[in-house]
This record gives sequence, C-alpha cells and structure tokens, in this order.
Amino acid sequence: MAGKVSKTNVAARKEQRDNVNRTCRYCGQEIEVALMVVGRGKTRMVRLCCQKAGIAQGDAAT
Ligand SMILES: [Zn+2]
Repeated sequence: MAGKVSKTNVAARKEQRDNVNRTCRYCGQEIEVALMVVGRGKTRMVRLCCQKAGIAQGDAAT
C-alpha cells in the first residue's frame, strides 16, 4: 500500500483545523469572549471579538 499516513501528521492537521475553529463564526476574528456581570451575580457571555468587528450580537434584550 502506498501513502502511509503517520499519526503525527494527522495530529498536526487536526491541530490546524482546531485553530481554524477558534475563529468566531459570527465575525471571523479570533474568538474573544468575556463574562460580564449583569444584575445580581448573573453573568453573561459577551463576544468582544464581535464588538470589535462592529457586529451586533443577536440579543434583543440589550
Ligand atoms: Zn466574534
């Protein structure tokens, strides 16, 4: 059989794919989130990457 695929190669490729997945699917930037405290001990995830990109976050409550 030709074309032996080494495990290392596969791992490297997977890593590469993971890196791609780390970009935000909304703004396409590197994912950057922060927890904002809203009200009493309530936290909310905020996408800083999208805010920087000027993309409104799908949250009608804001
Ligand atoms: Zn984003």
